[in-house]
Amino acid sequence: MAPENVHVPWAGTHRSRRPVVVPWTSDTALPSLKESHVAEPATPSGTPSDVVVLGGGSAGYATALRAAQLGLDVVLVESGKLGGTCLHNGCIPTKALLHAAELADGAREGARFGVRSTFDGVDMAGVNSYKDGVVAGLYKGLQGLVASRGITYVEGHGRLVGPDTVEVDGTRYTGRHVVLATGSYSRTLPGLEIGGRVVTSDQALGLDRVPSSVVVLGGGVIGVEFASVWRSFGADVQIVEALPHLVPNEDVSLSKSLERAFRKRGIQFSLGDRFAGVKETDSGVTVTLESGTTFDAELLLVAVGRGPRTADLGYEEQGVTLDRGFVVVDERLHTGVGNIWAAGDIVPGLQLAHRGFAQGIFLAEQIAGLEPTPLVESSIPRVTYCEPEVASVGLTEADARTTFGDDAVETLEYNLAGNGKSKILGTSGFVKLVRRKDGPVVGVHMIGARVGELVGEGQLIVGWEAYPEDVAALVHAHPTQNEALGEAHLALAGKPLHAHN
Ligand SMILES: Cc1cc2nc3c(=O)[nH]c(=O)nc-3n(C[C@H](O)[C@H](O)[C@H](O)COP(=O)(O)OP(=O)(O)OC[C@H]3O[C@@H](n4cnc5c(N)ncnc54)[C@H](O)[C@@H]3O)c2cc1C
Repeated sequence: MAPENVHVPWAGTHRSRRPVVVPWTSDTALPSLKESHVAEPATPSGTPSDVVVLGGGSAGYATALRAAQLGLDVVLVESGKLGGTCLHNGCIPTKALLHAAELADGAREGARFGVRSTFDGVDMAGVNSYKDGVVAGLYKGLQGLVASRGITYVEGHGRLVGPDTVEVDGTRYTGRHVVLATGSYSRTLPGLEIGGRVVTSDQALGLDRVPSSVVVLGGGVIGVEFASVWRSFGADVQIVEALPHLVPNEDVSLSKSLERAFRKRGIQFSLGDRFAGVKETDSGVTVTLESGTTFDAELLLVAVGRGPRTADLGYEEQGVTLDRGFVVVDERLHTGVGNIWAAGDIVPGLQLAHRGFAQGIFLAEQIAGLEPTPLVESSIPRVTYCEPEVASVGLTEADARTTFGDDAVETLEYNLAGNGKSKILGTSGFVKLVRRKDGPVVGVHMIGARVGELVGEGQLIVGWEAYPEDVAALVHAHPTQNEALGEAHLALAGKPLHAHN
């Protein structure tokens, strides 16, 4: 909270968006869930639960944990492993690989810092054992957490067979509310079959060797993260992206900077040329683009996005509207049918684990009658954990210009060359701020080693609609990379300190 003598231009705007937190105690009266019951009980015990959650990934288990914490009876149905994509095939294992990749780069670059070290190669068995150990530890912790909250955990494939009922292996589970959270799968292109040397991130995470060369189809988040890992591990990497830039959803300045950094690292990429086909041979693949260009490699990674897992689950039969497979919901994540809600990757928008967690918490609180504030999608931080990292929150410059008009937007780039800690780390990059003229900062965009860790501050700035003057008044610890954010705001507030013209 700002002291009274500090001008708080955003007062009254961000506060109205802040959720009202109602701590739950055993004395807290829960809303009339019992009264909203819409069907006869059909659970084996004959008593409907308060919530049946279909899918135990980030969105589903967050719903279940928070709902149980609020005193609701919860049934959680999961056909695979509790924790879903993020824990087993997504965020956690890829970030473990990226950490191993950082160590490989460190070993290579030791001499630059006066440390004698050499990179002797990668023992994939060792890397996998480290990665799997991290996943296993978190998995065990999560299982314990779910058990300790008294959640009824059902293993098996669930199907929505009524507006309040999920069937698993012939047994029906009825809830006063049903939350759909069945997540997503790796998509491919028409005619491009996965198998053999053509893999998705699922198979790539289980490789027992470092491929000598890889074509990565797709220059989005997943594609560039794998490209980064494999390059650090010593592979030749070629990315193929049909759009004009890598990480095409980011501010174009970040995309261009990442392209320069990847070029320097020897990661090849082809932009604006579409995939036409692949031929598999005994020793590798030949990938052809529409221009006729071909690339040979040992493997092809297909990283063209993730599709919602909503087919054949009974959703449409119950009246839930799907749009290209995604579940259509209102801002409160309601499907428009009975007490059916949806969260996570099946809901159109950013497919990120922390969005799923937040939506799950939101739904649990809403079902418990706490009236939480709907999430603001543009305030959700996005991090791509390649080297260098790319992190952002809020509007890109282009989006801000479309939203507010060309003349109503101001931007500032602060180069990490002026930041002591970045210099120590030997990283380059920048912080870019997008501001509504005479108004708050509406976008924070960053590139450089470790900038993912700075996005928390960026998120507060954008989420609380801070003015540059507000942030400039805050003291940032020295020497940290956070200082770069402070300095960027100092500069935007008209009083640059370590900024070179
Ligand atoms: C390689 C990769 C890297 C990623 N890295 C990041 C990252 O760094 N940060 C980030 O925020 N996000 C990352 N993501 C995205 C993140 O994993 C997803 O956004 C997140 O897992 C979505 O959560 P969810 O609960 O919606 O779906 P999921 O995690 O997919 O969970 C859905 C669950 O539902 C279960 N299920 C499906 N159908 C049924 C059924 N009929 N019956 C019972 N159970 C069912 C599935 O088994 C699954 O466990 C990454 C994804 C990938 C693939």
